[in-house]
Amino acid sequence: MSRQGDSVRSESDAALRTRALESLLVEKGLLANDTIDKVVEKYEKDVGPLNGARVVARAWSDPDYKRRLLENGTAAIAELGFGGKEGAGIVVLENTSVVHNVVVCTLCSCYPWPVLGLPPGWYKSFAYRSRLVREPRAVLREFDLHLPETVEIRVWDSNSDLRYMVLPERPDGTENFTEEQLVPLVTRDAMIGVSRIDSPSA
Ligand code: FE
Repeated sequence: MSRQGDSVRSESDAALRTRALESLLVEKGLLANDTIDKVVEKYEKDVGPLNGARVVARAWSDPDYKRRLLENGTAAIAELGFGGKEGAGIVVLENTSVVHNVVVCTLCSCYPWPVLGLPPGWYKSFAYRSRLVREPRAVLREFDLHLPETVEIRVWDSNSDLRYMVLPERPDGTENFTEEQLVPLVTRDAMIGVSRIDSPSA
């Protein structure tokens, strides 16, 4: 299984904003449309996950928001202006030091588009869909995620009515970070649950 697009981890917030804006300009026909093929890729890698990153950063910064998010994901995500197509019934799962949640759609590729964009290729692969439920620890190791045996892994099967998003654990060393500073740390893969978020000082 290969990883696609090692995501936004290393990019600054400004770079992400720029690339998101570029996507929108292309979409609206204000940029040359020979780049149109790249739009899907940009939505997959940047625009969608950036929305999710904003949700996560808010939850890390605001305990009341986090409570609302875990109680009713769709409503709390709508507070930040995200919703719509493929976004009804979003359930947010909190990762902790003892419980690790990871998301799959075993039937097809159900995915919370408003917060994560389009699903990555591997998410739609038969290997991921069939193996994650059976051997989650082994699959996560292939994503370079080595969880201690003491961590319970919970696999959640998305469908067209219920789409899951993971609230990753806030990394150490970010205690003094503002919400805006937290946003660029949050990766798509961590919100699917195939990755954790590294401490920025690591
Ligand atoms: Fe599906």
